Amino acid sequence: MPARDIAIIGGGPAGLAAAEMLSAAGHAVTVYEAMPTPGRKFLLAGKSGLNITHSEDFALFASRFGESEPHLRPALETFTPSHVRDWAASLGTETFVGTSGRVFPTVMKASPLLRAWRARLETQGVKILTRHRWAGFEGEELVFQTAQGRKSVRADAVLLALGGASWPRLGSDAAWVPWLGGKGVQVNAFEPANCGFDVAWNEHFVTRFAGSPVKSVAATSSAGSVPGEFVISRHGIEGSLVYAHAQALRESLKAYGRAELYLDLTPGRTKEKLARDLSRQHGKASFSNRLRKATGLDGVKAALLRELLGPESQYDPARLASSIKALPVPLLRPRPITEAISSAGGLAWQALDEGYMVKKMPGVFAAGEMLDWEAPTGGYLLTACLATGRAAAQGMLSWLER
Ligand SMILES: Cc1cc2nc3c(=O)[nH]c(=O)nc-3n(C[C@H](O)[C@H](O)[C@H](O)COP(=O)(O)OP(=O)(O)OC[C@H]3O[C@@H](n4cnc5c(N)ncnc54)[C@H](O)[C@@H]3O)c2cc1C
Repeated sequence: MPARDIAIIGGGPAGLAAAEMLSAAGHAVTVYEAMPTPGRKFLLAGKSGLNITHSEDFALFASRFGESEPHLRPALETFTPSHVRDWAASLGTETFVGTSGRVFPTVMKASPLLRAWRARLETQGVKILTRHRWAGFEGEELVFQTAQGRKSVRADAVLLALGGASWPRLGSDAAWVPWLGGKGVQVNAFEPANCGFDVAWNEHFVTRFAGSPVKSVAATSSAGSVPGEFVISRHGIEGSLVYAHAQALRESLKAYGRAELYLDLTPGRTKEKLARDLSRQHGKASFSNRLRKATGLDGVKAALLRELLGPESQYDPARLASSIKALPVPLLRPRPITEAISSAGGLAWQALDEGYMVKKMPGVFAAGEMLDWEAPTGGYLLTACLATGRAAAQGMLSWLER
């Protein structure tokens, strides 16, 4: 096949994964990136340890994508978590499996991987044009705003890899939604995913405990029960344990206008044992003393009980034991999407064909977080972005051949 001009818009993991495959197939690939450098969210993801994929059994891994699993499965089967690890190793980044089964680079950061990746792309002839903000279509042409003014580009095929709608200051601002919507392409509303939630804390509690981690607990929602930890924030609750329930909690708030996350403050101890130990305490002792002596709970966990329980429960050993095992934290709303780790919503699966081409726009493909799927944290997001980037590149290669 003769080399074709391919425009990839968006220099995140999905766009770069596609650029790697398309340039390896001999095409002239240009990546247009709005920001001064590509991969900003990828680099941020590496700040607290780049969780690049997960080592669990593949069937379980694929199930984490919920309703989108059937759509994503072919891409994930072609570029599995093992492929992600091999690919990173081929770029000089060895990975290891953490205690939770999550996979990280041994150096934890994303920057060495991104540097080596960019070098490979350059060797394969990929051009990355930064400060090129795509501003929509004009007829067959793509229009970009650049430092030098407006620029129109014609390409034989286009891949949109524009990211979701979280952390817009890193580049993915979802400005494209009306441009595709205007062409009759279905885009589902973006919502925060892997996000914190607001709680109506008392000022006294929040002044004392904002920023405090709550460790070795379990949390239950309609998504099931998960052990872990979270953080009390000024506005509510944050952290991996909360993110694991975020989809279920968000859906509950939408459907019923309310949602509670139930905390087990003493996993491993039964309600009956707690009630027995609490009933042995002296009735005149303070709540804090009874609690500490009978259950070992103090600090932020004891404060949570005081904050969320009526005084009547504090004196009834059976009720207090029940609350320690299932303390309801009433949630007001998700934190804004600008703070979320990722987003739900985006380009609807029905708008795409099996090769990731937008059905109403022949020659225009899409990949990554801009598609309507969501998954918890744990390396699922990056794996799916890499896998869909590659699947869209494969779809484009087949389409160009035709
Ligand atoms: C704090 C944080 C931590 C995270 N940690 C992890 C983790 O450990 N593991 C994990 O799996 N995932 C993690 N993620 C999520 C992961 O980083 C994203 O899912 C992933 O980067 C999405 O890849 P993408 O290529 O689809 O989009 P993006 O990475 O968002 O890239 C899209 C690119 O398109 C560009 N763009 C957007 N609009 C335009 C336009 N109009 N013109 C030109 N360019 C445009 C943007 O500037 C951006 O560079 C984290 C996210 C955050 C915010």
